[in-house]
Amino acid sequence: MEHPSVKTNHDHQPLHQPVHTLKGIGKETAAQLSELGIFTIEELLEYFPHRYEDYRLRDLAEVAHDERVTVEGKVHSVPSLMFYGKKKSRLTLKVLVGRYLISVVFFNQPYLKNKMNVNDTVTITGKWDKHRQTINAQLFEAGPHQKQGDFEAVYALKGLVSGKQFRKYMGLALSQFSDHLHETLPDSFLQKYKLLHRREALRSLHFPASQEEMKQARRRFVYEEFLYFQLKMQALRKFEREQSKGMSQSYDLQKLKQFIDSLPFSLTGAQKRVVNEICADLLSPYRMNRLLQGDVGSGKTAVAAICLYATVTAGFQGALMVPTEILAEQHAESLHAMLEPMGVTVALLTSSVKGKRRKELLGRLSAGEIDILIGTHALIQDEVDFQRLGLVITDEQHRFGVQQRRVLREKGESPDVLFMTATPIPRTLAITVFGEMDVSIIDEMPAGRKAIETYWAKEEMLDRVLGFMEKELVKGRQVYVICPLIEESEKLDVQNALDVHSQLVHYFHSKYQVGLMHGRLPSEEKDRVMKEFSDNQLQVLVSTTVVEVGVNVPNATMMVIYDAERFGLSQLHQLRGRVGRGSEQSYCILLANPKTEVGQERMKVMTETNDGFVLSEKDLELRGPGDFFGRKQSGLPEFKVADMIHDYRALEVARDDAKRLIESKEFWELEEYAVMREYLVQTGVTSGEKLD
Ligand code: ADP
Ligand code: MG
Repeated sequence: MEHPSVKTNHDHQPLHQPVHTLKGIGKETAAQLSELGIFTIEELLEYFPHRYEDYRLRDLAEVAHDERVTVEGKVHSVPSLMFYGKKKSRLTLKVLVGRYLISVVFFNQPYLKNKMNVNDTVTITGKWDKHRQTINAQLFEAGPHQKQGDFEAVYALKGLVSGKQFRKYMGLALSQFSDHLHETLPDSFLQKYKLLHRREALRSLHFPASQEEMKQARRRFVYEEFLYFQLKMQALRKFEREQSKGMSQSYDLQKLKQFIDSLPFSLTGAQKRVVNEICADLLSPYRMNRLLQGDVGSGKTAVAAICLYATVTAGFQGALMVPTEILAEQHAESLHAMLEPMGVTVALLTSSVKGKRRKELLGRLSAGEIDILIGTHALIQDEVDFQRLGLVITDEQHRFGVQQRRVLREKGESPDVLFMTATPIPRTLAITVFGEMDVSIIDEMPAGRKAIETYWAKEEMLDRVLGFMEKELVKGRQVYVICPLIEESEKLDVQNALDVHSQLVHYFHSKYQVGLMHGRLPSEEKDRVMKEFSDNQLQVLVSTTVVEVGVNVPNATMMVIYDAERFGLSQLHQLRGRVGRGSEQSYCILLANPKTEVGQERMKVMTETNDGFVLSEKDLELRGPGDFFGRKQSGLPEFKVADMIHDYRALEVARDDAKRLIESKEFWELEEYAVMREYLVQTGVTSGEKLD
């Protein structure tokens, strides 16, 4: 939970008293509130509404179909009551609202019949069915509209307490304790952004007099939450850099330039910029903790090679860690080809390097005879000792667990660490999830790359798709076929792959060889199938999503994705990135019959853009932050009031403010920042001692 309730150590702080110390709240109520996680007065005050009910009277002409509305009118007909089923009933009456005669229906509230007589004035809240000119009523109030205020806070109360009761407790807390609420933002900030004071904002958030007041209150808390969160991230970042003694690696600029000139292409502007950012970190005595984002095919491997070479020219060793053995081999091969002419020794360490060979390799590594070691997570095992490890790069870092990343950072004498990822992370998530890291972005593709043409086909068109596939095969090209993803069960995924595989084997007879790949195959088997596809012994590869990561088969020019609507946009983009790696035009066919509008929208977006960042933003918009990284351990912070997507602008402002504060001398000295410093101490970021 990211909220700056600064708890001072003295426990006589009135806000930290249990809720039953409020006059009007007894032990019984306190017990109910405790089930909502509310024990102290402060926790009650910071139990924020999750939405607001709008009780303003409105002209029905302006109310949309299915919208919730409150109206005041005169009963026009004797209510008729009908029972059906066991305990079910329907009460119907006509009500005259202004110039409209409408119907009102109450379900299962038969006792209301006696409360409504013809010509009585009544107030009714419910859903407006525009077509039937009927309100499906939820609330009934005898007499004219009574509700105070236009808006009423609605809280998530799990049915433990009624909203009315809860608002009463809140009112008690505010009236008895608001004098003890302290401001957590310096005056200068309140003035600069025209923010409400904390006390005022808290009252308005719970009891807004108008929509505008509620918005202002919310705006203040959004900023507060983001700012405190970012203060923590930026302070962590500063510590990571300055308190962890890194090594200053004086690389040989001349040699580096020579190497870059020896590459068969010239670097893109983005690659140059990123190389400079990383090299500046190598040179500095601070320890690098950097995330490198670049779309599939943007040339991250070249950047990695250049930076690893820089480390080597400074007299250090480098390591490159990748998630699969196939990838490790591919990288080892290409880095070896690039760097051997520069006199650099590149070696590969995977779990299949065993026995004597392994021992010998490890010996050479610790003697410093190997400059760059490439491998899977085998690289971070205890027995692997470098002589002088200067830089560690991990590729596709989201595949590594947090724990593995930590072990890696602790390897050797604090090497610089670079995490590379091809999954573009939307700006808003990057700021929050990787807020404590530096981020470099390759936002430019090498020139002359042919965009992959993407088409969306309905499943009925499978025959034509197969014809299209055959055309590519006749030209000597290869094809990936990705099988439906059924998230609940890997077993079903495999079954699907098996089915599609046998269909295609049948369809292509022996004209083309069709291979099969899925997660349940033993890893040697996976490697073998991949190798056969890579060597063009297999022309078609039917696979589950295991091919998603990094595999490079430039002769594959087509990908067909079954049930594409089941995949996230970022994942489809990753998959699609397996083609378009050679000089030929490549194609991606999405087979999908999406049922929802959002689903259709997603397919359309895929056919319209090849830009991973655009897609990731769209993905986030359509699926929400929780789903973006997958359900498990997403590492996303939770905000009480703020919404990372909706309030993105505020997030950026808060991030910049936090950065500036943490870097400034005043922050660590002036009284007006004392509350913020106290917060950093309490959350364990700093010891409270002065930093510099
Ligand atoms: P990524 O790892 O980011 O997906 P790679 O590093 O594998 O991308 O690069 C994809 C392809 O583009 C490789 O064949 C690589 O040689 C080539 N490449 C990299 N940088 C450039 C560049 N600046 N100009 C042209 N081609 C490039
Ligand atoms: Mg790559």
